[in-house]
Amino acid sequence: MASTPPTIHLVHDDLPPGLSFSSGMVALDTETTGLSLVNDRLCLVQVGDGEGNVWLVKFDVGNPATPPTYAAPNLRAVLEHPRLTKLFHYARFDLAMLQKHLGLADLGPMFCTKLASKLVRPTASKHNLRALVAEYAGVELDKTEQMSNWAAPTLTASQQAYAASDVLYLHTLTAKLTEQLAEQNLTYAYDQALKFLATRVALDLRGFPETDLFAHH
Ligand code: MN
Repeated sequence: MASTPPTIHLVHDDLPPGLSFSSGMVALDTETTGLSLVNDRLCLVQVGDGEGNVWLVKFDVGNPATPPTYAAPNLRAVLEHPRLTKLFHYARFDLAMLQKHLGLADLGPMFCTKLASKLVRPTASKHNLRALVAEYAGVELDKTEQMSNWAAPTLTASQQAYAASDVLYLHTLTAKLTEQLAEQNLTYAYDQALKFLATRVALDLRGFPETDLFAHH
């Protein structure tokens, strides 16, 4: 699946209509101008079907409102599809950005590979995507474009390949992590943690600090 180069479809402002995802799962990632939910904006949404197709939805903002809002009805239909599981790595950030720019309601079923990794690999030193793809897919991801300029009017071939690689392995990771959650009797804890995600994202967007609400202090 991922050993052959993906087919990259670069599109602007929305997905094409009528895409279907036969696995019932769709891999998602976002690229932004930076990590601030206040000052940065969503530039790109990557959508992977787990069969080697990746759509790069580039948002070009000529004269942005603050924050700019994107209509993207076809992307929205995929994101809000009640029977399509959305796969993310660190859904917390992607959801906040998608919420900020697309004002989504309920994304329905979801999977976050970082959250699952934290539960099934509690002693691992790294839970980033690169570490998980190396461990579960045996592939070394090239992250050299991680900090590149996603607001550039034209994305280079290298930027497109990097952006696509971020959604290429999420189906594989989800399958393996789901298995491990079950083996370790952590499925319930994982599901409950995921239910808190919408609240955490809402707090993030309101500027609440990075604290554990359940901590003693
Ligand atoms: Mn990414």
